[in-house]
Amino acid sequence: MATSTQVAAVILIILPYIFCYLAASSDPGHITPSNHPREMALYPYDFTIFYPGHHCRTCHLLKPARSKHCSICKRCVAKQDHHCIFINNCVGYGNIHWFLLLLFTTGLLIAYASYTGLNLLWGEIIQAFPDRGSSWLDVFRKSPSWSSYFGLWGWAMQQMTRMSAVTLLCLLTNPLVWGLLGYHIYLIWAGTTTNESLKWSDWQAEMKDGFVFKRKLAEDRQKDLSIEPAWTRWPAESQQTVVRTEDGRPPQDARAMGVGDWQRVWNLAEVENLYDLGFWDNLGDVFRGPRRSARI
Ligand SMILES: [Zn+2]
Ligand SMILES: [Zn+2]
Repeated sequence: MATSTQVAAVILIILPYIFCYLAASSDPGHITPSNHPREMALYPYDFTIFYPGHHCRTCHLLKPARSKHCSICKRCVAKQDHHCIFINNCVGYGNIHWFLLLLFTTGLLIAYASYTGLNLLWGEIIQAFPDRGSSWLDVFRKSPSWSSYFGLWGWAMQQMTRMSAVTLLCLLTNPLVWGLLGYHIYLIWAGTTTNESLKWSDWQAEMKDGFVFKRKLAEDRQKDLSIEPAWTRWPAESQQTVVRTEDGRPPQDARAMGVGDWQRVWNLAEVENLYDLGFWDNLGDVFRGPRRSARI
């Protein structure tokens, strides 16, 4: 009979493969002529990093807000985050939840594998050198120097070479996986994506130079429905438009969007991020969004 620990370990080993398959095989949100109206209704334009009226030069479709054309997939992808070489697929609106679960379960697996590997090596050490004590701290204290302490580990590794190689590999990949997961949790907290964070940092540089201006959008603004969706499922609409100018002077074009005076913007904190609803709602959009969109 398998113990509950063994069952948990088997589940832990299987889950990353399941999520890897789902992340790699799911549609990340490819935009086609048939699903274009639905993709347009996912997010409103924020008139800051996404303006209406831009066509993809390859797909010849209007670019929905938050979408990006992937040159590897050769298609536009809804809420494109990045093209991931590990799953050989884009990470976007349709599969980002599988990608996050893949990172999380892979992180758990390699953390568990590192812990198990170190424990086995440790068992080898205290069995061979019982006079040094049985706890990590005892053995460290009774070792005459750092090199003597790490010499014990080196000796144990030579006794179990193949297992040690796997343990070392797991130890070294921990920062990569947890770092990537941490970065994605930060992006969710900030209500942005990898692609959008690059756009925001471009804006930050322009703002520092004093070339960026904002003003209000009229509340009763008439939408141009040939380039903008009449309605989106997102619970907020942009209240502002943000533009950059070539000469550092406020926009002079009388046809420019918005009403009132232009205000110079010096840093990102002065600009609303329309796509940030707060951490939990942003997380909800990542995990519930794909199911919700199926009903549109
Ligand atoms: Zn495209
Ligand atoms: Zn791609």
